[in-house]
Order: sequence, then structure tokens, then C-alpha cells
Amino acid sequence: QKGNNGKYTVTLIPGDGIGPEISESIKDIYTAAQVPIQWEEVSVTPILKGGKTVIPDSAIHSVKKNTVALKVGKGHVSLNLTLRRTFNLFANVRPCASIQGFKTPYDDVNTVLIRENTEGEYSGIEHEIVDGVVQSIKLITWDASERVARYAFNYAQTSGRLRVTAVHKANIMKMSDGMFLSACREVSKEFPDVAYDEDLLDRVCLQVVTNPKPYSDRVMVMPNLYGDILSDMCAGLIGGLGLTPSGNIGRDASIFEAVHGSAPDIAGKGLANPTALLLSSIMMLRHVVTIDMLLHMRLYDYADKIEKAALTTIAEGKSITGDLGGKATTKEYTDAIIKKLRA
Ligand code: ATP
Ligand code: MG
Repeated sequence: QKGNNGKYTVTLIPGDGIGPEISESIKDIYTAAQVPIQWEEVSVTPILKGGKTVIPDSAIHSVKKNTVALKVGKGHVSLNLTLRRTFNLFANVRPCASIQGFKTPYDDVNTVLIRENTEGEYSGIEHEIVDGVVQSIKLITWDASERVARYAFNYAQTSGRLRVTAVHKANIMKMSDGMFLSACREVSKEFPDVAYDEDLLDRVCLQVVTNPKPYSDRVMVMPNLYGDILSDMCAGLIGGLGLTPSGNIGRDASIFEAVHGSAPDIAGKGLANPTALLLSSIMMLRHVVTIDMLLHMRLYDYADKIEKAALTTIAEGKSITGDLGGKATTKEYTDAIIKKLRA
């Protein structure tokens, strides 16, 4: 939503744990870079309503109105479920790229993983059949598979990664993953200029950690749980959870968030790395551009400028947080980025 002042209003959900500290850091950086974004901060602390604990309506209304949000925290399951259902957040996009100059085992990791976001093992349907025997349902539907596949092919086409690899275990889950693959194959026919192939999850894990390079020209698409695991593995290759952003793409809104959660173990200590949330906000800026082409060059320039300031600060290694092997506090790292933006 663009207001009269030419600024975009974006919902900000700081959540709990490290959420408030890293959100503060993003706000400071955006103020320094003079990004034409206006934050609408909302609380998602559950409230009691009619005997049930629910997410405050104001949070939902804000996202509904603005259609774009930046959020932290997995804290409570009910929040994610509510947001996912309310806004039909069907695809989770997780890019993961080496930061040039920051030493890790490989300097050429550049993966994009698209995770189905609504079903699979996350259907939450589990029951005990008899004492000592539990059944858990992995739900796969054609519609959800087709929807995420189409998003993956569209993403491939617009990002210039002209291959889609469907990651699966259809050798074991013949029907469920089998149908996921059929849906991907069907959709691939609509995209003659995007190559398509399929690979087993275990093989992909082995190959990515052995040689990540071949994965830099493609988009990987997969069912929910595989995406959860594979994306943390990729995150480990580039320096950990403090660095990896994500976007939840929905029919009615898009919500950007770090791959990590609220990290309660380090909350309130000034130790958190705000980079993952900052990079998520940069994905958000580039996403807003697709909604309003008029903002095109402007927001792209801000995104590029902030990204460069953060990545060079990390590469220089003088003011980096503990998770990256440095000694800087959240604030010191943030100030180092701001100094670069002002230079
Ligand atoms: P949640 O239930 O909210 O997901 P969690 O306990 O699983 O919380 P995560 O946020 O997933 O915690 O983090 C996992 C680990 O990675 C924790 O030890 C945490 O300290 C660390 N970590 C996560 N995010 C960051 C960050 N931004 N900066 C530094 N360390 C982080
Ligand atoms: Mg977690």
C-alpha cells in the first residue's frame, strides 16, 4: 500500500525472543538509508477471546491491508497456522548464497529452495491406533503441489535460473511424492524454456555438501518437510541461521522472515545477528517492486545499497556477531552497516 507521502506501509511483527532487538536494527538501518517504507508495528502476543487464546485481530487486519509483512519468530505454532491459513501462504522461498570474503568451506554456494508450505507431514494429523502404535499422516494434494510447482517455474523464469529440480523420495513414498512429481511434470510443460529434472533428497544432500556449484543455476522445489531440513543444511554451508532469509508467498499477502526462530537462548543479550532478517527485508523490497512497477528503480537501488553495506561489513570481519566468529554486539554490527550507508 502506497500512502499519500509516497511511502509504502509494511506490517512489522517483531514477535518475541530476539525479535524486538533485531527488528530495532532493521528499523535503524532503513531510517539511515532513507528507504520509503513506513512500518506498522503490531503485537502478536496471544490474547484470550471467548475462552480461547487467539492472535489479536489488529495484527491480521494490518497484514490484510498492507499485503506485505516482515516478521520474526516461530514462537507459537498458532500464529504461523493462523497467518498461513488466513493469507494462503503456499510457497516458502529460501535463497542461500555464500558471502564473498567471509570464509566458509565453499565460496560458491548459491541455492534457491522453494518449499511447499501448507501440507505434507505438517498436516498435524496424528493418532494412536492401538497402544504402542501411532500413525502420522503425510497429506499431499494435487492442487497444493501444482500451485507450488507453478510458483517455482515462474520464479525460475523471472530470476534467470532456467532449471527446476523437484526433490523427492518417490522411490519410498510412491503415491504421495509420486503425485508431487506428476504435478511438477505437468506444470513443466507450460514452461518450455525452463529445463526440468528430478532428484532424490538424500542424493541432493550428498551432492550439495560435496560440490554446491551445480546448484547455482537452478531452483529446487519440494514438499514441506524436505524443504525444512535441506534449507538448514544449506544455511550451515554459508555460515548458519544468522544469515538466511525467506519469503512466504501467498495468494492474499506475502510475509518475509528469517529462517531462524525467536532464539530464546540468546534473547535480550545483544548477541543476535540481524542479517537474516535484514536480507528478508531486502527480498521484501524486491518483491514490492513486482506489485508496483512505478517504484521499480527506486526500491531496487535501496535493496542493492543495503545488501552491499551488510555483506561488505561481514566480509571485512571487524564488526561481526558471535555466531559468525566475531565479538560485536547487535548494535555495533548495525552501526557498522549504517556507517557504510552514510559514507
Ligand atoms: P523457535 O522455537 O522460535 O524456532 P529455537 O529455540 O528453535 O526457537 P531458533 O531461532 O530456531 O531457536 O535458533 C536455533 C539456534 O540458532 C539457537 O541456538 C539460536 O541461538 C541460534 N540462532 C538463531 N538465530 C540466530 C541469530 N539471528 N543470531 C545468532 N544466533 C541465532
Ligand atoms: Mg527453531
